Amino acid sequence: MTTKMTSNDYIEREEKYGAHNYHPLPVVLDKGEGIYVWDVEGKRYFDFLSAYSAVNQGHCHPRIINALTEQAQKLTLTSRAFYNSTLGEFEEYITKYFGYDKVLPMNTGAEADETALKLCRKWAYEKKGVPENEAKIIVCDGNFHGRTITIISMSTDPDSYKGFGPFTPGFVKIPYNDLDALAKELEDPNVAGFLVEPIQGEAGVFVPDEGYLKKAYDMCKEKNVLFIADEVQTGIARTGKLLACEHEGVRPDVLILGKAISGGVFPVSAVLADDDIMLVIKPGEHGSTYGGNPLAAKVAIAALDVVKDEKLAENSERLGKLFRDEMKNVKSDMIELVRGKGLLNAVVIKPKNGKTAWDVCVAMKENGLIAKPTHDHIIRFAPPLVINEQELMEAIEIIKKTLAQFE
Ligand code: PLP
Repeated sequence: MTTKMTSNDYIEREEKYGAHNYHPLPVVLDKGEGIYVWDVEGKRYFDFLSAYSAVNQGHCHPRIINALTEQAQKLTLTSRAFYNSTLGEFEEYITKYFGYDKVLPMNTGAEADETALKLCRKWAYEKKGVPENEAKIIVCDGNFHGRTITIISMSTDPDSYKGFGPFTPGFVKIPYNDLDALAKELEDPNVAGFLVEPIQGEAGVFVPDEGYLKKAYDMCKEKNVLFIADEVQTGIARTGKLLACEHEGVRPDVLILGKAISGGVFPVSAVLADDDIMLVIKPGEHGSTYGGNPLAAKVAIAALDVVKDEKLAENSERLGKLFRDEMKNVKSDMIELVRGKGLLNAVVIKPKNGKTAWDVCVAMKENGLIAKPTHDHIIRFAPPLVINEQELMEAIEIIKKTLAQFE
């Protein structure tokens, strides 16, 4: 007779055979549907991380899964050595959806960021006239764009870069939300682009001052510098608009998308730009074996259809306000600050009696809601955008009850 594995058994197996590059909350998930996930013991949780905002459409959305299974039985991968019957459909769909001339499909967020960096450098040499190998890209302190060597070369977080040098040159780091610092660096004629997250997600949901993005965009335009928005986490309705840049009426020159573009079903990412920029990349200069594969194409179309048809941006905008209002009224010594936009929110936790954000997350898990601390003292709350008001209020009750346990 075989004995059933417990959560601890699963955890020990991962610890034994997997690299220790993550520190997960002690919960072993086995099933997901909509806003809920279930662990291997059958306990149900509200998912308030949504796989770092990849599952905006909710777990295993039937329309997306249907698109996946239908295409999976027909054609999954051809590579880009040949044309296929779905890629063009996806390219037409996504460029019209976001209003750009062209798309370059990749798989992960990091790859899309890398693509944008290459695109920006090539544009600098071919269009702006920056001398070869002199192009600079301005990035912000506290950024998170992924984990490749070039991307961590832009990072100011020692956990990301320490021990992994030497680094890729060509980046200038300035404080986030600081227009004076941007103005100063934009004086350099070799600056090709400004890469920015409209809200810094991994840094702890830092929302810049109102007007920052618009002003930064205008300043870039004045100096013929590409405004490149990394909307891998903030995009696809997470912050209450389809793109977070829309809050300020900004249309980035280069738009980077990932995560929820596939509703958490399949790794799909994309870079969007107009012809003048995108066509500087020629055949053979960039790509990926899986980028733009037929499965990804069909999954992404279905996932983006869901966002529009189910009005997820509107829901995120309305319920996000409710979440912040409710959380701001919670009486707890541990809440230092509540901030966010739409359903991308964070609560900054003040440790109490040695108890930290991690302890709060473990206690919330016991009470049926999972979320994860970022940078020790910040808890990000980002449920799937298909959540309704009643469900959100239930979840808020769990958060309140948990914080009360620490009083
Ligand atoms: N860019 C941003 C803003 C992100 O938040 C992330 C991941 O959290 C990435 C890029 C990297 O995406 P991926 O993990 O798919 O490589």
